[in-house]
Amino acid sequence: MNDPLAPAVDTASAHWQALLQGLPDAAWLVALADQRVVAANDAAALLLGCARESLAGESALVLAASPEDIAFWEACAAGERGALLSDTVVTTADGRQLHTSRSIRIVGDTHALVLLRDRSGEERAERERESLLSELQATLESTADGILVTDLFGRIRAFNRRFAQIWGLPLELLQQHDDAAVHNWLTENVVDAAAYLQRLGTLNQAALLHASDRLRLRSGQIVERVTRPLYSDGQASGRVWSYRDLTERVAADERIEALTFSDALTGLPNRRRLAARCAEAVTASQAGGKSFALLVIDLDRFRQINDSLGHDVGDRVLLDVGQRMQSCLREPDLLARIGGDQFAVLLYPADGQAAEASARRLLNVVAQPCSIEGAQFTLTCSIGMALFPSHGGSIDDLVRHAEGAMRSVKQGGRANFRLHQARAEGDRRSHMRLDHAMRQALVSNRFRLHYQPQVRMSDGAIVGAEALLRWRDPEMGDVPPSRFIPVAEDSGFIVAIGDWVLSQAVRQAALWTQRGYHVPIAINVSALQFQQSHFVDRVANVLAVSGLPPPLLELELTESILLHDAADALLRLGALSQLGVKLSIDDFGTGYSSLAYLKRFPIHKLKIDRSFISGLPGDDSDVGIVRAILQMAHALGMKVIAEGVETEGQRQFLLDAGCSEFQGFLYSPGVDSLSFERLLGPPPAAAAPPAASLSPELAARRNQRRIRLVRG
Ligand code: C2E
Ligand code: MG
Ligand code: MG
Repeated sequence: MNDPLAPAVDTASAHWQALLQGLPDAAWLVALADQRVVAANDAAALLLGCARESLAGESALVLAASPEDIAFWEACAAGERGALLSDTVVTTADGRQLHTSRSIRIVGDTHALVLLRDRSGEERAERERESLLSELQATLESTADGILVTDLFGRIRAFNRRFAQIWGLPLELLQQHDDAAVHNWLTENVVDAAAYLQRLGTLNQAALLHASDRLRLRSGQIVERVTRPLYSDGQASGRVWSYRDLTERVAADERIEALTFSDALTGLPNRRRLAARCAEAVTASQAGGKSFALLVIDLDRFRQINDSLGHDVGDRVLLDVGQRMQSCLREPDLLARIGGDQFAVLLYPADGQAAEASARRLLNVVAQPCSIEGAQFTLTCSIGMALFPSHGGSIDDLVRHAEGAMRSVKQGGRANFRLHQARAEGDRRSHMRLDHAMRQALVSNRFRLHYQPQVRMSDGAIVGAEALLRWRDPEMGDVPPSRFIPVAEDSGFIVAIGDWVLSQAVRQAALWTQRGYHVPIAINVSALQFQQSHFVDRVANVLAVSGLPPPLLELELTESILLHDAADALLRLGALSQLGVKLSIDDFGTGYSSLAYLKRFPIHKLKIDRSFISGLPGDDSDVGIVRAILQMAHALGMKVIAEGVETEGQRQFLLDAGCSEFQGFLYSPGVDSLSFERLLGPPPAAAAPPAASLSPELAARRNQRRIRLVRG
């Protein structure tokens, strides 16, 4: 068989061959006359996957047969001499499709040079880039966050639809490709544009900064913006900004917070919120040097309401009480419900005086009569108070102390308030020692009663005696009631002591009666004693055993007895009054009961507290208070006795103001029964003139002597 290249194997074709071999791309030369390959290089053989020799004589159309190539070669055959330059696909000897860049040029009017460059690598990279891009775009679009990518100059490189959605960016604006307009839109849509721009400035100056900020948009949305640097070749080349709409989450958080920090029934803050606010108050106090107060308020006998009127009414009462208390507090004070019937108030700032004033207001509003679903009743509360920093440096300490003070108010008869008494450990031990010694004193019969005369203003006659407890301990000496009575009230031992006083005083009064002195005897009754379920029976029993006519016994009660559990108190007072026993209110004016309130109770006498007498007649406010008590008591048909009268000036003022009786050192302190009998003089039947009808001046003068006698 003839070698197809044989006629061409001449020097010219050898030249071509050498030339083609020197080209970097695949190349072959085609003779225009027959459109067959004259020479080809190794690169062409490699590209097409065949031996170079096999290419010689091959038809140009066979090697590249795209429609463009066919058209070119046809045009050539028709005598045209153009060029073809484009990308095309060639099929290799083993059937692979190769993407190439191909050029065909006419050389010397007789030949065409075909050059082919393999583009399959580039083609692959391009395809990969494209698929990467579309994957990225899909990823961008599928995130729930809005994404914006900018270069170092703030020019927008990419964003997703969510970004436009969160910011409410109009489509037209996005299509304008006006980056400044987009940035303006963002700035105009945040609430605090100045802060937004300032922060952007900072971020732009620190290309490597990661940051997370919360933006509040004018639309009401809350958006979290996170930004990270974008790197290219290890260098920061821009930023990725992601925006997350937190509006719903924040609203949900707020709802959850509101639920976890508030009481479901009253809507008031709960214990957790209180603790948080206390912690803030501690910090603020430490920084500003101010003190604050914590009040713990416990409703008295609330269980009775639940038990007798049902839980629905109980709930209504709690709501009502919460509203009442809130109404008498200042704006910055925090009222919280911290337990079933327990509330707390944080007063910031506040000192002891301010706390006391608030406590009085709270006691007062709570004690206003309630009317719920036809049920009428009066509630009271007990309040314990502690101050920061004097009573404790931590919230736990404050709560503990305020609760402790509240509990001692409960033990002392409820319906009152008390400030925590900072008691050192040593004090607590001496408290226990005192309690122990008191119990010993009762069994060893070391308590005594002294009797202080109650004197009629008009003629100086002794019209009564108040029994006052005295205790001389072998080791401690005389212990004043002001020291041991609170301890006895605290431990509950006051019930036993009070019982002893009752029987002792009644026996003494009965003795005097037998001897012809008809002196009514007044005894002090502690709240706890009064609340004993058998108290009325006990009084009746003591009277019956002694034979003392009941009107000669007077029980001195405190205002707190009336205020706590008014219904129960009313029943008990009614029963005592039925017995014929007289009832008086001791230390009147120091509590917070109004005279109008007293009207409901069968009270015979008010004892104006010593603290209002001491300023007479010079102190205008004492003058006003005493006059007011006298006027209203008279209007209500009650007797009044002034306590602690020490000077003639006080006595004269009281006499002029219409006070009928007094008690005080001016006449006599409390004295033992024998000395008291001497004050009384011989019994009316046995002697004249009776001691009980001395003129006040005379009696007072004699009393001075007695005082010296007694004290000596
Ligand atoms: P109180 O019932 O108000 O008794 C009057 C107190 O004032 C008595 O103090 C009395 O000695 C004192 N006092 C009387 N006149 C004057 C005066 O002119 N000037 C001054 N500065 N003081 C005067 P005392 O005996 O120390 O008793 C103090 C408190 O202890 C009593 O106040 C009463 O609350 C309580 N207490 C005394 N005895 C008993 C008792 O048997 N049972 C109970 N539960 N408490 C008692
Ligand atoms: Mg008294
Ligand atoms: Mg008194």
